Amino acid sequence: MSVSSSADTLHLEADVLIIGGGLAGTWAAAAARRAGAAVILADKGYCGTSGVTATAGPGHWWIPPDPPELRENAIRNRQKTGFGINDPTWMARVLAKTWESLPTLHGFYDFSKDETGATRYRELRGPEYMRALRKMIDSLGVTVLDHCPALELLQRPDGSVSGARGIRRQKGGAWQVNAGAVVLATGGTSFLSHLLGSHTNTGDGYLMAAEAGAELSGMEFTNYYTVALAGSNMTRSMSYAFATYYDEDGNRLPIPPGPDIIRPLAAAMLKGKVFCDLSRTPEDIRAKVPIISPNFMLPFRRWGIDPYRDKFEVTMHGEGTVRGIGGLRIVSEECGTSVPGLYAAGDAATRELVAGAISGGGNVNSAWAVSSGQWAAEGATRFAARQRGRDAGRPIGQAGLRPVSQHAVDLRATLSVVQNEMLSYDKNIFRTGEKLKRSGEMLDDIWNIFQAHALGSGADVLRTRETAAMLATARWSAASALARDESRGMHQRDDRPQTDARLEHRILVGGLGKVWTSRDRGKLLELAS
Ligand SMILES: Cc1cc2nc3c(=O)[nH]c(=O)nc-3n(C[C@H](O)[C@H](O)[C@H](O)COP(=O)(O)OP(=O)(O)OC[C@H]3O[C@@H](n4cnc5c(N)ncnc54)[C@H](O)[C@@H]3O)c2cc1C
Repeated sequence: MSVSSSADTLHLEADVLIIGGGLAGTWAAAAARRAGAAVILADKGYCGTSGVTATAGPGHWWIPPDPPELRENAIRNRQKTGFGINDPTWMARVLAKTWESLPTLHGFYDFSKDETGATRYRELRGPEYMRALRKMIDSLGVTVLDHCPALELLQRPDGSVSGARGIRRQKGGAWQVNAGAVVLATGGTSFLSHLLGSHTNTGDGYLMAAEAGAELSGMEFTNYYTVALAGSNMTRSMSYAFATYYDEDGNRLPIPPGPDIIRPLAAAMLKGKVFCDLSRTPEDIRAKVPIISPNFMLPFRRWGIDPYRDKFEVTMHGEGTVRGIGGLRIVSEECGTSVPGLYAAGDAATRELVAGAISGGGNVNSAWAVSSGQWAAEGATRFAARQRGRDAGRPIGQAGLRPVSQHAVDLRATLSVVQNEMLSYDKNIFRTGEKLKRSGEMLDDIWNIFQAHALGSGADVLRTRETAAMLATARWSAASALARDESRGMHQRDDRPQTDARLEHRILVGGLGKVWTSRDRGKLLELAS
């Protein structure tokens, strides 16, 4: 790695640049170092405390290899709930990679034991997990740029990606890394819905990749919501599996426990306040919650509520592409995107390959982040080894960085339109073609103004790019949901309540000036060659 400084820009070189230092990015950084690459990792916040895992207690998809029927059954079950969009080969790869990876954390993470004395690998405590991953990459010699958000990618004349540029939030000035290849691990976005831990996840990776020409997939599956104590962002959901719900008059709502509570809860919340009773939560779960999610009780304690005795008001926070499943399209076994030299991992990538048409939260997403991070890093390391030199490419950021002409653009108002289109229960849960078409048109109009005139400068440059990224993501989501002219998995259309066998395929989306959608006809692994 080499370093130089010009004016207020820190110039660095590396074989592999990893953008995002959450679960996927840290696993990626470790894998690239182990494969022999010089690695730089840049995170918007502090790597070790930022990203959604840092506040969570993630469970992984964790199934022993023996007897083989265990994994075969798990894959078969997941296929049944994936509605024809996921792929058993990828599921098997993720199960195997996760199984071999988590034990490598010994020495960095203090694993607990279960009642039989076996090491508990499946569920880890998020804050300590992320601290352990930071320790691991520090010990491997990864150069970490904390508080250094990337704003745009660099591209070589042949179209391949050769690094990125960003800002140094604490030290001031800019940074530029010229790299052989780049891994995007910038997470998903919940459109700043107050989902726990997701405030730095604003879809930046999707926008940067699209500017390089990358495609996305599965963006119609952005309508997962999680219950939380009203007025809080505490979206740890384990105890809510045992919840009963009441309306304002104390009438019990007919909402059965299980994964399908989003629609009936949203319908009730559109009519009035909804209250929750967790008194049926079994003792062993009550004991487990503070171990896995030490922060779960905090807002209750602060407001003097005993969640297992008192009824309390609840809300739902939209998860966008965090526990939704869309993201950058993956075209190779090593998690390459459709742009050479650009790899995607974790929530920045689509998780359809494993999760299918339902949320990957609960175990699949974490296992995917662990596995895809390492595959992406190995692919990036191989790509970097084929590049001669580390010459700077051209910076290619557009919206918010290089307007046609500058006029004041109201960032807060823009975000509020995006949130209204992407988070409102009425529009995003009770979808119809008509509503989606209107959303798409409104978002297109705002995009046209934004990309032509918005210019972020000084401290505002990050907020401007983040707003552009969420606006672009909202457009891709609305267009994909309109293109999926049926109901499938999480994506429910009130005007198309049936699943249509002709649409049993992934939907690709892309474009900035004009958004396009198309059917994914490719056989995934063939595209790699
Ligand atoms: C409350 C909660 C609980 C969850 N529990 C589970 C679970 O039990 N099981 C499960 O499978 N999944 C779970 N998930 C989902 C799982 O946590 C995620 O899938 C996983 O953390 C994704 O890892 P990631 O690295 O892709 O994203 P993140 O961990 O979110 O990391 C993204 C990182 O990118 C950085 N970043 C963003 N933009 C930029 C930029 N422009 N420049 C530089 N850095 C940037 C961010 O600061 C962040 O550090 C949960 C999610 C939430 C919200």
